[in-house]
Amino acid sequence: MTRYLFWQDSYMRDFEATVTEKNEKELLLDQTCFYPSGGGQPSDTGTINGIRVNDVIKLDSGEIVHILENTAGIEKGMTINGNIDWGRRYRLMRLHSACHVVSGVMAKSFGVRKHTGIQISEESARMGFDMQKLDSDVSESIESEVNKVISEGHSIVAEMLTWAQVNSDPALKTVTEERYEKIDVPRVLDIVGLDRQLDGGTHVRNTLEIGRIKIIRHENKGKSDKRVTFVLENP
Ligand SMILES: [Zn+2]
Repeated sequence: MTRYLFWQDSYMRDFEATVTEKNEKELLLDQTCFYPSGGGQPSDTGTINGIRVNDVIKLDSGEIVHILENTAGIEKGMTINGNIDWGRRYRLMRLHSACHVVSGVMAKSFGVRKHTGIQISEESARMGFDMQKLDSDVSESIESEVNKVISEGHSIVAEMLTWAQVNSDPALKTVTEERYEKIDVPRVLDIVGLDRQLDGGTHVRNTLEIGRIKIIRHENKGKSDKRVTFVLENP
């Protein structure tokens, strides 16, 4: 099984690994920094031995497949050097952590716990909520409350639990059932003092790294599906 270096240290951008399988365009490694798309966060891009990595996917087995331009010169058993596009990844981390702050604020200050979707890109993040009313005023108060909470400097910590621990934690269980993100590992992301939920993504260490967010759009997608799209004020 691939070791997930992006969980051990989300700030690691270069790594060495051993090739465990290869074909014309795909590589399996014993460990990797490349985050595979999932949970609303897109996959990392970068290079392996200087060759572009275009996509990264996680198989049901948990194994991570790197899809390259080609795999010329790479052989099974070889040690390779991997390098992720850090600018892109760091923005994705800040946006993903921001989504969890928004989520915590929606629950705490607006009483909205049910999500209808999440989509993060390098430029923006879109989140859907099961709520009745979302107009410009509500959108503005969400933005200012989120920015206030970000500026409080909450630590962000990930922790591996067992499913038994998850299922015996009533708060976590409720949250899990109401989330849209499909999570298949009992990993908990804690924004200390704000929000605690299952999550497989990569995150910053403190909310201060997010900086301020700006909601650029709010949409009404139906009676109980309201969406906000936000960007980082300082990308
Ligand atoms: Zn998440």
